[in-house]
Amino acid sequence: MALLKVNNLSKHFSGVKAVDNVSFELAAGELLALIGPNGAGKSTCFNMLNGQLRPDGGTILLEGQDIAGMAPREIWRLGVGRTFQVAATFGSMTVLENVQMALLSHAGKLRSILSRTGAHYREQAMHLLDQVGMGAQADRPCSVLAYGDVKRVELCIALANKPKLLLMDEPAAGMGPRERDDLMALTKRLVVEQNIAVLFTEHSMDVVFAYADRMIVLARGNLIAEGDGGSIRNNEKVREVYFGSGKTFSIKDTANSIRSNAA
Ligand code: ADP
Ligand code: MG
Repeated sequence: MALLKVNNLSKHFSGVKAVDNVSFELAAGELLALIGPNGAGKSTCFNMLNGQLRPDGGTILLEGQDIAGMAPREIWRLGVGRTFQVAATFGSMTVLENVQMALLSHAGKLRSILSRTGAHYREQAMHLLDQVGMGAQADRPCSVLAYGDVKRVELCIALANKPKLLLMDEPAAGMGPRERDDLMALTKRLVVEQNIAVLFTEHSMDVVFAYADRMIVLARGNLIAEGDGGSIRNNEKVREVYFGSGKTFSIKDTANSIRSNAA
């Protein structure tokens, strides 16, 4: 059974159908890419799933429970984690302290961190940091980390909440190709090892085709295609959205086309 079932999800902004009757499913242990040109409605979708935006219509069933319109904190509590597009870590705190704080927050004990820092959840935090390859940098302040490493800490913080579903809206934005590859490889490994469902967006089609188990394609708020890399690559509607019809599809072309769209 699907972990997440989205049915006829819709959001309009003063006449603009940002997301228009979108339906899809996502299973535990699946890495699903949400792709589409700039303005297609991807972030609007994410923001309805995480509670930042209230849908105008539709349902979002998480293990059968409709979470549409719930507050972000409630959705988070039900096991929907997210990484933030902007570095959300506290720069002056160390890597370890950031993760400890996330663990305390998950346990609902955030207030006690003010009186008793340090020992709390240290072991658990170190374990999480090791999982994302950041154990060796645990005692460095976040402010001195390389960009790709900040992203790994953010992923680690999202994992502290033990998410069933992880939402990643452009997790690799601003990264170089190498860092981006590393982050996706890490994400893929976590999906498999921890049976987490992940929905992510990414501009590089190379990355999407390399890592996603399946992809869904949005254009002007409508879901126009879904399938694996092979079927998306050969999909007539998808080609039309990116190039106009008739042209041959190449992964590089798509990436460039999306980049120029986004610029
Ligand atoms: P994507 O993430 O795929 O680039 P978005 O979800 O950000 O697309 O945007 C989808 C459409 O909705 C765009 O036309 C955008 O201008 C519009 N939109 C998004 N957020 C708002 C908002 N808060 N107010 C008005 N229009 C918005
Ligand atoms: Mg977006």
